[in-house]
Amino acid sequence: MPIRFTNTLTGRKEDFLPLKPPQVTMYVCGVTVYDDCHIGHARGAVVFDTLRRFLEASGLKVRHIRNVTDVDDKIIDRARKEGGDDLKAGARAVAERYTGRFQADFARLGLLPPSAEPKATEFIPKMIRFIEGLIREGVAYPGSDGVYFAVRELARRRGKYGDLSRQKLDQMMENAHVDAGAGKKDPLDFALWKKAKPEEPSWPSPWGEGRPGWHIECTTMSTDLLGDEFDIHGGGQDLVFPHHENELAQALGAGKPFAKIWLHNGLLTVNGQKMSKSLGNFVTIEEALKKHPADVLRMFFLSAHYRSPMDFTWERLDEAARAYERWTGFIAHEKAKGSGAPAADSYIGETGKNFFDAMEDDLNTPEALACLHGLAGHPGGSGKLLELGRLLGFFQSAEKTDPAVEKLITERDEARRKKDFTTSDRIRKQLAEMGYVVEDTTGKTVVRERV
Ligand SMILES: [Zn+2]
Repeated sequence: MPIRFTNTLTGRKEDFLPLKPPQVTMYVCGVTVYDDCHIGHARGAVVFDTLRRFLEASGLKVRHIRNVTDVDDKIIDRARKEGGDDLKAGARAVAERYTGRFQADFARLGLLPPSAEPKATEFIPKMIRFIEGLIREGVAYPGSDGVYFAVRELARRRGKYGDLSRQKLDQMMENAHVDAGAGKKDPLDFALWKKAKPEEPSWPSPWGEGRPGWHIECTTMSTDLLGDEFDIHGGGQDLVFPHHENELAQALGAGKPFAKIWLHNGLLTVNGQKMSKSLGNFVTIEEALKKHPADVLRMFFLSAHYRSPMDFTWERLDEAARAYERWTGFIAHEKAKGSGAPAADSYIGETGKNFFDAMEDDLNTPEALACLHGLAGHPGGSGKLLELGRLLGFFQSAEKTDPAVEKLITERDEARRKKDFTTSDRIRKQLAEMGYVVEDTTGKTVVRERV
C-alpha cells in the first residue's frame, strides 16, 4: 500500500509521491521564542518527529527544516515588560533565553534534531530580496509604515486566494486578522516589512530601518533551504490561516509552486479549554516532564489521530503512564525469562503488518499503538514491541546514565558557570566525539545521543 496523507490544500487523502525519491523535503513551522513552550507545542513536535521516523523507516531520507522565529512583536513586548534601558539588547536576550529553553525541552522529549534550524534573523537580506521580487511582480507595494502584500492583486491574477483555508475573499473581510498598519491599501493586505521605532530591533532595508513580517520569514527560509517546490509543509491547525495561507500567497506571487502536501495537527486543549495564562491552565513541557518521562507524553499524544483535536488532563497522562508501564513491565518480564520471539508466530507477523498498514494510512497512530498493546500481552511479543516501539520514537529517552558522560556534563556546567569557555568548548567536542549532541540551556548542559 502506498503511504497516504490528508492534504489540507485539497482536503483529500492522497498518495504520497516525493518529488525526488528517496529524498523527502519537509518544512515545519517552529516556535516564536518569547516564552516557555507548552504541551501544545510538544504535541506538534512529537507528531512531526513520528512522521519523520516513519518515512525514514520506509526507506526515505528526510531533510527536515524547523525554523526559529527570533524577531517578533511578542519578543519585543516581553523585553519591554522586563524593562532595561536597551530594548534591542533586551529583545535579543529574550530570544536567546527562550531558544535555549525550547531546544532543551525538545531534546528532553527525545525528538530527532532537525537537519537545519534556521533563525529568522540570519535570513534578513534574503527576505529583503524576496520582498523586492514581489514588488517587481506587482503583488506588493511600499506604504507609509512598511511594505504590504496586495492580496486582491494576487487573487485577480490567479482567479483565487484562500485555497488552503477554503475561504472566499468576502468571508475573509469579515474575519480579517487585521494587522495595525496605516499604510495598507486594503484591510486584507498583510505586512511583509514593518518600519521600526528607533528603540526597537531593526535592520536596514530599501524601505527604511525595520523588521520582516512573520509570514515572509517562512516562505524565504523554506524555499531557500528546500527549493521553490518541496514535499511537505507542516504545522498546527491554528497556523492554516493566516500564516500558511499567506506563506503560500507570497510563494505564488513570486512564481514558486511551493509545498505539495500540507499537513496540520489538531489543537490541544487543557480540561476542555484553550490553553491560556489568564485561565491558569497553561502547562509547560517542563512541568509535564517533571511528572512523567518523555515516552509517556509520546504515548499520550500518539493515542489520538494527529488531525483530531485532543484534550489534555493530568488523569489522561496518568492513564498513558499505566499503558507505558505495562509495556516496560512486559519487556522486563520476557527479558528475565529469556523468552525471545518464537520462530514463526503468525500473530506477531500479522500484527507487524497491521502496524505498517495503519501508519501508511495517514499516520494512524491510535491503530499502530493498538498493535503494540496487543504485542505487550502476547508471549514472545517483546522483541517486536521493542522494534516497532522504537520506530515510533519510544525507548530512546534523552536521559543519559553513562557515568563518563555524566562526569563530563558536570565538569562542563562548572566551566560555564566560571565562564571558562575554552574548557566548555573542549568538553563539547569530546562529547561530540562520543556521539552526543550538546544543547545549551541556562546554566545546564543537556546531551542527546546522535542518531
Ligand atoms: Zn511558518
